[in-house]
Amino acid sequence: MAEGSVDTVKITASLLYNYVRCPHRVAMDLFEDPEKRDPVNPFVQLLWDRGHSFEKEVVEQLDLPYTDLKEYRGFEKERLTLEAMARGDGLIYGGRIAADDLAGEPDILRRDGNGYIAGDIKSGAGLEGANEDSDGKPKLHYAVQLSLYTDILERNGLSAGRNPFVWDVHGEEVAYGLDDPQGPRKKTTLWEEYGRALDRVRDIAARRAHTLPAHSSGCSLCHWRTACRRRLEGMDDLSLIPDLGRTARDALLARVKCREELAAADLGAFLSGDKTCFRGIGPDTLRKFQERARLQLATGARPYLKGPVSFPQAECELFFDVETDPMRDVCYLHGFLERRGENERYVYFFAGEPTAEEEKRAFAHALGFIRGSAPCMVYYYSAYERTVWKRLQEKYPDVTDEEEIFALFNPDRAVDLYHHVVRPKTEWPTCDHSIKTLATWLGFAWRDPNPSGAASIEWYHRWTQSREPSVRQRIFEYNEDDCVAMRVLLDGIKKLSC
Ligand code: SF4
Repeated sequence: MAEGSVDTVKITASLLYNYVRCPHRVAMDLFEDPEKRDPVNPFVQLLWDRGHSFEKEVVEQLDLPYTDLKEYRGFEKERLTLEAMARGDGLIYGGRIAADDLAGEPDILRRDGNGYIAGDIKSGAGLEGANEDSDGKPKLHYAVQLSLYTDILERNGLSAGRNPFVWDVHGEEVAYGLDDPQGPRKKTTLWEEYGRALDRVRDIAARRAHTLPAHSSGCSLCHWRTACRRRLEGMDDLSLIPDLGRTARDALLARVKCREELAAADLGAFLSGDKTCFRGIGPDTLRKFQERARLQLATGARPYLKGPVSFPQAECELFFDVETDPMRDVCYLHGFLERRGENERYVYFFAGEPTAEEEKRAFAHALGFIRGSAPCMVYYYSAYERTVWKRLQEKYPDVTDEEEIFALFNPDRAVDLYHHVVRPKTEWPTCDHSIKTLATWLGFAWRDPNPSGAASIEWYHRWTQSREPSVRQRIFEYNEDDCVAMRVLLDGIKKLSC
């Protein structure tokens, strides 16, 4: 939340963080009636609580002396932070720094030579996108916050360099080199990204820039989701078209205002050779978006196949779904709907404790179940199950080897319904292609009134705290319904025509 009145809005780290996630969120938080907010999502509340307790844990384990300003507020906190830096204190926890229209509360200020560098304690990984070839790259939403602190220190003549850090969930200190190019292909630096974000946030805060909502997966956890959804539908916004998103919507807006206009448009007017007049949108993509707009707006629209699709015959089919808690880095449930002819049953393997022993036991038993079911076809939705099982194999190499996991997800034996079927082979009159949306369109209803992976994580947290059987049952029913939804989707797709 911004500090001060509209005329004196301070640019804070949380405004920049929200801007990176969604520019419209900044405007909504500053200017919209708070009464229109949805209640805080329980998963978001859990993230906040986890963040606070992780920070407390890290600070309690520090084996260095530090100045603790966490409990102070506002200008007193700022005054005490300045005094601590003037004394040259080595480590300052929970301080506040400000300069001009900028204000920030870095978790840590660490003396380095004659200056300070700022750091944040994060209950997530310090980098994102790690894979076999790379350790990952800095997270922009962390980088803009760290840049703000560094900027304030520079303006006060107290900076020891543009190299702030994150203490992350893995116990690592991750350095953010703000002046380094972001990669071999992306030459701009994080500092330049920060400068751009800062200018935009200032413009939004001063009402010089107008923002619009855009439909995205992030909306489901946002407290403006109902207000924004109503507005998007009222505007017949282009971002309601699957995969279109904010950037393409903004590019299209100069010539096409809404889905209805796109559906009716003569695309030839926008084409020039093998390009369109819209930045970042090629002719094929534009045609795809128009097709989708037409499908969404048609009366009695039905999904269809874009080309022939065939599925292997199998006596046994397993519809497979895992539940994980990324913050605890634990996979707590492997669920399977087993179908043999007319007979179905739900089989699950559950880690009753969020411990390595329990996670390993559940993984080993789930793997044993698949081995015992062979020959069978495994269906899953998106690459997540495969990624999780690869990670589990690396974590527990005595359970199985890389070759077995590779063979298990070989396309001859396993089908990723999302990447191999839904996206390349089908079109739907819906706003996205999530399993929830598509199975619901086909008439399936989850038993839980609030089904989501995020909600399941929150239930698992409650289960570990309370051992309440009804909470555990809710986790199982949700997972079972996810598995059944995949079977509904597979059968639904088999009935579609071109
Ligand atoms: S609901 Fe979506 S569009 Fe609206 S402010 Fe939140 S993230 Fe942005």
